[in-house]
Amino acid sequence: MRDDSKQGEGRDLGMGLKIERRDFLQGAAIAVGLGLAPELALAAEAERAAQDQPGYYPPTLTGMRGSHPGSFEDAHALRDGDMFQNVRDSGEEYDLIVVGGGISGLAAARFYREAEPRAKILVLDNHDDFGGHAKRNEFLIDGRLQIMNGGTMGISSATPYSEVADGVMKALGIHPEELSKASYEPGYYSGLGLGSGTFFDKETFGADRFVRAPDRRRGEGVSRAAMQEFLAAAPLAPAVRASILDIETGNTDYLPGMTSDRKKDHLSRLSYQDFLLQDAKADPGVVPYYLHRTDGLWGCGIDGVSALDCWGSGLPGFQGLNLAPGATPRMGYTPGNEMRTGGSYSFHFPDGNASVARLLVRDLIPAAIPGEGVESVVLARADYSQLDKPGQNVRIRLSAPVVRARNLGTTRNGGVEIHYRRGGQTWRVKGKQCVLACWNMMIPYLCPEMPEAQKAAQHALIKTPLVYTTVALRNWRAFERLKVSRVSAPGGYHSSFGLSQAQHIGGYQSHGTPDQPILVHMTRTPASPGLPEREQHKIGRYELLETPFSTFEQHIRSDMARALAGGGFDPARDIAAITVNRWPHGYAPEYNSLIDPDEGLPIVAARQRFGAIAIANSDSGGGAYTDVAIDMAHRAVGELLG
Ligand SMILES: Cc1cc2nc3c(=O)[nH]c(=O)nc-3n(C[C@H](O)[C@H](O)[C@H](O)COP(=O)(O)OP(=O)(O)OC[C@H]3O[C@@H](n4cnc5c(N)ncnc54)[C@H](O)[C@@H]3O)c2cc1C
Repeated sequence: MRDDSKQGEGRDLGMGLKIERRDFLQGAAIAVGLGLAPELALAAEAERAAQDQPGYYPPTLTGMRGSHPGSFEDAHALRDGDMFQNVRDSGEEYDLIVVGGGISGLAAARFYREAEPRAKILVLDNHDDFGGHAKRNEFLIDGRLQIMNGGTMGISSATPYSEVADGVMKALGIHPEELSKASYEPGYYSGLGLGSGTFFDKETFGADRFVRAPDRRRGEGVSRAAMQEFLAAAPLAPAVRASILDIETGNTDYLPGMTSDRKKDHLSRLSYQDFLLQDAKADPGVVPYYLHRTDGLWGCGIDGVSALDCWGSGLPGFQGLNLAPGATPRMGYTPGNEMRTGGSYSFHFPDGNASVARLLVRDLIPAAIPGEGVESVVLARADYSQLDKPGQNVRIRLSAPVVRARNLGTTRNGGVEIHYRRGGQTWRVKGKQCVLACWNMMIPYLCPEMPEAQKAAQHALIKTPLVYTTVALRNWRAFERLKVSRVSAPGGYHSSFGLSQAQHIGGYQSHGTPDQPILVHMTRTPASPGLPEREQHKIGRYELLETPFSTFEQHIRSDMARALAGGGFDPARDIAAITVNRWPHGYAPEYNSLIDPDEGLPIVAARQRFGAIAIANSDSGGGAYTDVAIDMAHRAVGELLG
């Protein structure tokens, strides 16, 4: 990673310019008047809650988003302070209280209401917006509306959607294949001659150089000649070029004399990095070139992922091994299941699965998301003041981190008492039952009474930190001149970035001419190479929480300026706004054969119902996917209703 002192001067990069990057001041400062009866106090508090204020619309907030300032401090303070003094009773009682307003929590509310149509349900979430990871970034740039996913990218999973999850999609009007056909423009960028490029930075590779990558057709490798041409232009030593050429286009069996099964077992026990260095005998200089190839799926580098999983994900170097098709039990959730099942259908709304969350909210509280029909959700402006109205059966309360969930009895109908924070105050609310659809590793702090073994299992479910940054550009002429729509930057602060997917849907168009505004999606994973995967994640989580927006902005401006210099990119002129979606608790953990026992992650032990409290979230299904989040909600509600 790059050292700050090597960044370009702030003024040239446009650091001092006014752009859309205001950090949201969390909620309205709500001081509840002393002396009010609980119900009146709650009413007064609700009246002043930020989500009820006119103009409240978090998707347009820029700066530090995702786990934004104000969303996690109370939960973190749980370990340090006592927030259970002067608790105020909300005076409310619900049939179900759902903790976590992500897709799992919203789906849980839907399943419960399906079974109990008159049920009173409260959903509590610590963020200022609903959707969990499925968040929407929205920009108005020079009069043009642009939308991007701030987290959960799309409907696409390692297995086909189950009958339950597919049923929810269909009930919401989402038919992925039809929507894809109607809205994608797959050949748009390639039709303009735009492909992908690699930016080699001088700190990592000795010289700043942008090299257009050879074009490759889907499912086909790159020809040896094209690869040679690419490598010849890259600032790499001859031995490194030779190794990469061999890995990419060679046909050597690096494990001669072993059966396919034996090879797979061997590959499951060493990292892809070790496979390249020890088995393929590659020059060590290949490591920086390949290090981030696994970022997108694992949130860590090739040193933390097994060679077998990398084979399953299509990384190069295995052509000569003659491995028999088919997964083994020692493969991770994603590559293993994709190999077994072929994966699910796929579809990407412009704001990713924020549209799925918005459709779930429309289903629960129709007035909150105006419009009819699935496509209308794309441009719908959510009315947040409808989410938590007194008197309605389903209420969604934002900026309300839960700090305690306690059983009042011992059975699944024994009742619960939930404490949450809002406006500097701890509130108590009662429910008959509860679904914890929040991050499972938080649960031991919320339910200290749970059995020690269950809490230990929950603690082990360490999530993957990652960042999706959205940069709003006034034009994309530099991309057009360089003939790229995607750039990989192996030594960059963000290891890749690319133009938004070309798409038109529901009156929305993602792209115009290169002279018009567009959004760029960037990915960063805060990894610490050399450590086991989840140790890297723990360090990365702290790094994300400690890194100020200005550090991100400096890197974004400098890295884009350097990578796209040949196309005339000027960050001061071209960047209109930046939203950094940081997810210190990102992907649900998935089995990793390098560090986990053969029996896998302790998800079943972690998700056991505890009295009137059941546990959902994608964490409890061991797969970082929307269908898993929905399936886990269905199971949790089933456990409560019997
Ligand atoms: C950057 C990113 C990209 C992804 N891309 C995809 C993709 O393309 N396709 C896909 O299928 N999946 C993707 N995922 C996985 C994604 O996590 C799931 O698809 C799904 O959105 C998870 O939903 P969930 O409800 O289980 O969890 P979450 O979305 O994490 O929701 C849980 C909610 O609970 C809240 N919470 C936590 N603690 C508390 C508390 N104490 N009190 C109140 N609320 C609390 C959290 O803040 C959060 O809002 C992606 C994830 C990330 C981070």
